[in-house]
Amino acid sequence: MAWTHDTGYRPAYDHTGYPVAVQDDGTEAPSSSAPTRREIIGWRSACDCGWRGMDFYPRSQHPSPTALAPDTVDGWETGTAAYAEWGRHLHRALPELAVHDRAHELASAQQRLERAIHAARLAGVVTSRIAQLISLAALPSRGSTASHVAVQPHADRADHASRTNGAGRAGSAGELSTGRGD
Ligand SMILES: [Zn+2]
Repeated sequence: MAWTHDTGYRPAYDHTGYPVAVQDDGTEAPSSSAPTRREIIGWRSACDCGWRGMDFYPRSQHPSPTALAPDTVDGWETGTAAYAEWGRHLHRALPELAVHDRAHELASAQQRLERAIHAARLAGVVTSRIAQLISLAALPSRGSTASHVAVQPHADRADHASRTNGAGRAGSAGELSTGRGD
């Protein structure tokens, strides 16, 4: 089975992944070869762009009567194994891909929100209640405004600590920002 990242980002279509069969002499089996051949000893994650995964999945550990990669090697169903390796390759090759995908999700969520707002207004929900619900959802956490403010001095101190002590002290700066009371 071949894997594609089908979210509409054109450069991602240059990367089609698949588990490539490895023969007992270490070479890759041509895709046209008979799939029952005994000389296929396992699989590796592969991509059309020429990339190959580091992990080898031996057939002895992943029995396959057909010599096609079994699900435990393919990993598409579970997001594991060869498929997961290829996914990491894809995001290293296209570090901006996640931004594209999250922005797309955000845009479609925005559209659904607008439809919901429209329906709620038609049903008689007042604008102030709708605005309240939207601003509640946009808060970074469920904490009250008061506790949010109380955390602030710690954050300032953490900033100061990292400036004076350098990046190596990020751990202690993190401790300061956990919000222990004075
Ligand atoms: Zn690739």
